[in-house]
Amino acid sequence: MNRIALITGASSGIGYATANLLAQNEYHLILVARRKDKLEKIQTELQNNFQTKVCILAEDIRNTMDLRSAIEKLPEEWKHIQVLINNAGLGLAFDSVDEAKLEDWETMLDTNVKSLISVTHILLPYLLKTEDAHIINIGSTAAKQVKKGSSVYSATKFAVEAFTKGLRIDLLDKGVKVTQINPGVVETEFALVKAKGNKELAEKSYSNFTPLYPDDVADAILFALSRPKHVNINDILLTTIVEADINTRIDKIIE
Ligand code: NAP
Repeated sequence: MNRIALITGASSGIGYATANLLAQNEYHLILVARRKDKLEKIQTELQNNFQTKVCILAEDIRNTMDLRSAIEKLPEEWKHIQVLINNAGLGLAFDSVDEAKLEDWETMLDTNVKSLISVTHILLPYLLKTEDAHIINIGSTAAKQVKKGSSVYSATKFAVEAFTKGLRIDLLDKGVKVTQINPGVVETEFALVKAKGNKELAEKSYSNFTPLYPDDVADAILFALSRPKHVNINDILLTTIVEADINTRIDKIIE
């Protein structure tokens, strides 16, 4: 029987690559993101190319009530959700703390932390009813180290790390595996969102080195999902060669 995975932030980048790889590996998918047009295209593409069924939920994960109601309204056969991939997230601006906008900090905290926790709370009753449940949280090298201009983005990912550890402690003996995947720089829309739509600035993010690609992260996710029943992958840290020492100032490499 196909497993059902719910992926947040599936309209681009790591989420999209993961949807693609899981579709190739006999998963059915519930894809969540705000941009309905993108989700619809992905739904058609995956269903045409692979033996998969894809359900889309065009929701802002910050709207907890709407998301809960959308999940409750899913047809019964879609409620056997075994895998939750908490991937949706963003970084904004990365200004020095004395220059940053409070609004940017709040958006990062609301999306990367509050929503990830709420989505998990909403999905847990469904996951607990299935066998072989697995929660995968997307952290970052920023969950391990703070870099210039990334205080609040790092704070959100440190929070994800604390929550992941707590989930693991509380849920492993209830049959739910818990994994955190921590990528270094990945070439996605992340840079464009961070640069608030400034393409030139965004392109600079990847100009001097070869970044990770979303497929690299999707591979790590599938690896964690496909271990035998007795194995839990706790944490994967994957970086580009230049970031292998995560203390490296990536901003200095980019300059
Ligand atoms: P991306 O291409 O910008 O994808 C982010 C995804 O999150 C999009 O599908 C976006 O979809 C969704 N999203 C954002 N806010 C949302 C909201 N409020 N409600 C629902 N969906 C929302 O970036 P990415 O690099 O793949 O990022 C995925 C995760 O990887 C994030 O948690 C990020 O922090 C983490 N990460 C990224 C990097 C990197 O260098 N790229 C490195 C380490 C960790 P919509 O806009 O359609 O809603």
